[in-house]
Amino acid sequence: MSYERRPIGPEEDLQDLMDAFGELFEGAYMGELRSLGSCEEQVFSFDVEYADLMEHDVIRDHLVDDIERFMLTGEQVLNDRFRQHMKAPCRLVLRLAGLPEERRRPLDSLRMRDRGRLFTFDVAVTGTTPPIGYLQRATYTCRVPGCGETVQVDQRLAREREKPSSCQACMQRMFDGLPDNDEGEYIRRMAEQRGMFGDFGLVTEDLRYIDVQYLSVVDVVPSGKGPWGQGRHTWTAVVDEDHVGSYPVGSLLRLHATVNVDHLPERTFAKDTRRCLLLRVEGIEPLDDAAHVDDVQWSNGPPV
Ligand SMILES: [Zn+2]
Repeated sequence: MSYERRPIGPEEDLQDLMDAFGELFEGAYMGELRSLGSCEEQVFSFDVEYADLMEHDVIRDHLVDDIERFMLTGEQVLNDRFRQHMKAPCRLVLRLAGLPEERRRPLDSLRMRDRGRLFTFDVAVTGTTPPIGYLQRATYTCRVPGCGETVQVDQRLAREREKPSSCQACMQRMFDGLPDNDEGEYIRRMAEQRGMFGDFGLVTEDLRYIDVQYLSVVDVVPSGKGPWGQGRHTWTAVVDEDHVGSYPVGSLLRLHATVNVDHLPERTFAKDTRRCLLLRVEGIEPLDDAAHVDDVQWSNGPPV
């Protein structure tokens, strides 16, 4: 399988992906969706096996794209299909499970060229931060009198908040009734509207925050007989939603995560050109052999 990135293109492409996710959830995962209808947690991780995704042509072709958008799209379809079975307010978070051996990588081998790729890592948790909020989605409304168009913009972690660049509704109104090839009228209208297209205000009551937490992690090399090996460097992984607060120091985990680029801690992103790699966790499974650092023998002492 190729690692080449292919952007999710036009609307119909995205619609194909949504239909494919719908088929998958209504098929192999229907029983699970039904049984979750009475779940008591407000947020619930929903594991989807990597092999099931790879079996579906359309989904497989998109899995090497922008993973964040891939996961958001799948999660949106998952919750749409789940709604009819839901007995109490509950939201499902799409997670990946069972990534194959060929996706395994040591953390210490990661480089900038791995940015955007999805791998699986065996790690020990050596540190955690308190939970923090992350603005995942912001809603804006056009300030042009009489317009009021609202637009939702998905935000990226640890970046300046992004707003829409132009209002499609205003743009459409401006061109309505414009005679063909009337360049003079076109220029006159553009001049009149200048500066108005990007005038958006944030709708403060419609901000979507999710919980995130930063984990410090090191490589571990599990061995049934022991002792286990360990990595040299400490890396940072970001977990979200119901994963927050669930994995204390000493947890031994298999993380399925995408490689992201972040600013150095304590530095302003815009003014410092140095970057570090950050793992965005898309799924967590406990390591089979042990649940905690203290349960195994280490070749050089435990990585804490
Ligand atoms: Zn507008």
